[in-house]
Amino acid sequence: MHELPVTQSILNIVMEAAQRAGAPQILAIDLVIGDLSSIVDDSVQFYFDILSKDTIAEGATLRIRREAATAVCLDCDAQLSVSAPLMPVCVACGGARLRVSGGREFYIESIEVEDEDSGRTGDPGGQRPSSG
Ligand SMILES: [Zn+2]
Repeated sequence: MHELPVTQSILNIVMEAAQRAGAPQILAIDLVIGDLSSIVDDSVQFYFDILSKDTIAEGATLRIRREAATAVCLDCDAQLSVSAPLMPVCVACGGARLRVSGGREFYIESIEVEDEDSGRTGDPGGQRPSSG
C-alpha cells in the first residue's frame, strides 16, 4: 500500500517541473519501475488518477517501463538476469551468494508537457545566433 506516498511524490515532482517550464498541462509521464521493486503499476495509475484531479497533471498518461532485475554472483562474478521470486543459486557456478544489482529502481524518466505556443519548443533563455 505504499504506492500512495510514492505516487504523491511523483506528482509533486512533475508538477514542479512543469510549472518551472511554464507548461499549462502535463501530457505524459514516463516511469521506470524495477522488476524487484514492490510497486504495482495499476496501483500507481489508480492513485495518480485520484491525486491528479484538478491539477495540471489531470488526464496525463502514465507510461511505465519495467526494468529487468539483475544480480551478481559473489563467487564467480557472473552477471545474471533474475526475476521474482529470486533464484537462490547462481546458474553459472551453483554458488549461493548472489547480490542483487538492479531491478529495485523507481524513477521518473521523462515528462511530456504541452507547450504554450503549440508545437515549438522554446529556447531556454539561450543565446541568439549572432548575425549581422
Ligand atoms: Zn556464480
